[in-house]
Amino acid sequence: MGFQDKRVVVVGGGLGGMAFMNAAQYAGVKNIQCYEQAHQFGEVGAGVDISANANRILDAFGLKESLLSRSSPQLPYYMQYHNYKSGEYLGHIEEFSEPHARLIHRAHLLDSLKEPVPKELLHLQKRLARLDRNTSPGAAPYTLHFEDGTTTDADIVIGCDGIKSRVRRELGFGDSPNYSGQVVYRGFVEYKDLPEETAKLLHNVVNFRGPKRHILCLPIGNPATKTDRIGVIGFMSEPIESWDSENWMARSDISSLHEHVKDWCPQVQDIIEGLQAGSPDDRMLKQALYVREPIEKWYEMKEGQKDAGIVLLGDAVHSTLPHQGQGVCMAIESGIALATILTHWKNDDLHAAFQFYQDLRKPRTDRVTKTSFEAGKLASSDDPDHLSETFNPQALMERMKWIMEYNVLDDLKSKGAEYMDFTESQI
Ligand SMILES: Cc1cc2nc3c(=O)[nH]c(=O)nc-3n(C[C@H](O)[C@H](O)[C@H](O)COP(=O)(O)OP(=O)(O)OC[C@H]3O[C@@H](n4cnc5c(N)ncnc54)[C@H](O)[C@@H]3O)c2cc1C
Repeated sequence: MGFQDKRVVVVGGGLGGMAFMNAAQYAGVKNIQCYEQAHQFGEVGAGVDISANANRILDAFGLKESLLSRSSPQLPYYMQYHNYKSGEYLGHIEEFSEPHARLIHRAHLLDSLKEPVPKELLHLQKRLARLDRNTSPGAAPYTLHFEDGTTTDADIVIGCDGIKSRVRRELGFGDSPNYSGQVVYRGFVEYKDLPEETAKLLHNVVNFRGPKRHILCLPIGNPATKTDRIGVIGFMSEPIESWDSENWMARSDISSLHEHVKDWCPQVQDIIEGLQAGSPDDRMLKQALYVREPIEKWYEMKEGQKDAGIVLLGDAVHSTLPHQGQGVCMAIESGIALATILTHWKNDDLHAAFQFYQDLRKPRTDRVTKTSFEAGKLASSDDPDHLSETFNPQALMERMKWIMEYNVLDDLKSKGAEYMDFTESQI
């Protein structure tokens, strides 16, 4: 049975929406289209860390080679920590499990996700303006209206339209995202723009741990494909200024980041100079971090219909602070869960299928949201004078194991055996 023949419309072609398109192909959703507001598929910001729990799913999609060619070669540790002032090594976190974390430029991850999706399923410059719930007999359950005046019909709408989600508002949630009080600076450094010793160090994932702020350096990309460079994220974990909530992202002078770290170790000064060398206008991205409170219901059913509805995925429903590197990873997990449920559900009760999706995903994503907030506090230090004595990377590792060691496909198969039919399935 299942819903694989229904008209499925995905709103938003970011990392979450594109991961869902891959999941849909893998699971066998047959009639699907994705609508993205931008004039091209693209990502802003530095690199992302895709951890084992998500890489296992991406590998199942057949993306392993494509991702490895664009991401960091295997690194010795998941992360290593250094004192902000002396540069001294403080400790490290071992890799969690196979497949190891992959550090990749956001745009390159999006490329890998986009390549296997047939072009005719992807539509650009389609900003959702309105969603009609049709009542006339014979009409499609939903009609989506885009800002360019075009429309499309759907039986199932999947809102992958990010933290400011329009689809979420359609479900009646008038809440606004909350400013976390945290600000990040995001940019890139080329290895050639660093002194040799610092370049060597930054072939590892390095966190310069300082008082209420830290600088995280991600060696993204692969030297073999000349995609290697360093994604630099400067996290300010206490309010440094008030923020205009209408404008979360801005270009900022690199000197503004430098102000916060000007008495830090020589390696951090090298990074600032590297950022400046690579930026023609001496500017980088500055972003306020917003997050939403978890919500009680992730979907809505079409009144009077068993097999039509609207459901949310990714930052639209489970946004999180980035301190455990899990926003994209959670969207990848939710994507394969939802696509599998839609294709393998035993009967035509979409309500039960959506509820199962929510019951499977919500406890985990709520916990990620909660613990990411706490992880942000631990990533910086409250006690800069006793960094070495008080720092316990083993404890940091233990508190994240449950995230990385999880296999969403195994969970789906064990909890869903009663409701889904996996015979003749590759899942
Ligand atoms: C500093 C920082 C570091 C991070 N690091 C990591 C990391 O290491 N690992 C990790 O897993 N996650 C990380 N994240 C989180 C991750 O970036 C997000 O969770 C992820 O990008 C969310 O994907 P999404 O597709 O749900 O939303 P988005 O990326 O916001 O995509 C939404 C898409 O929908 C489109 N859209 C919006 N409205 C409409 C509309 N009305 N009509 C049509 N299209 C629309 C948008 O243009 C966009 O393309 C980090 C986040 C930050 C801020």
